[in-house]
Amino acid sequence: MVTIDEQYCKGCFLCLHYCPKKVIGKSKKINGKGYTLPYIANPDACTMCRTCELICPELAVTVEGGAS
Ligand code: SF4
Ligand code: SF4
Repeated sequence: MVTIDEQYCKGCFLCLHYCPKKVIGKSKKINGKGYTLPYIANPDACTMCRTCELICPELAVTVEGGAS
């Protein structure tokens, strides 16, 4: 399961661009800092590769479960 901590996200969308399975999309939601937030658009496609977790400069993405 992939979760995004909306409080720490700065809307850079590196997670979206680096996800090989296009799991992450752009939402219409904006956090308290004024950044547009990503969301888990396609959770079933996730392979738990953790690329999104590793690429996020704000450590806002957590991948739990699956192989690690
Ligand atoms: S990489 Fe991190 S900071 Fe950037 S949009 Fe994704 S969750 Fe937000
Ligand atoms: S763990 Fe991998 S497949 Fe799943 S959302 Fe993150 S980058 Fe995409």
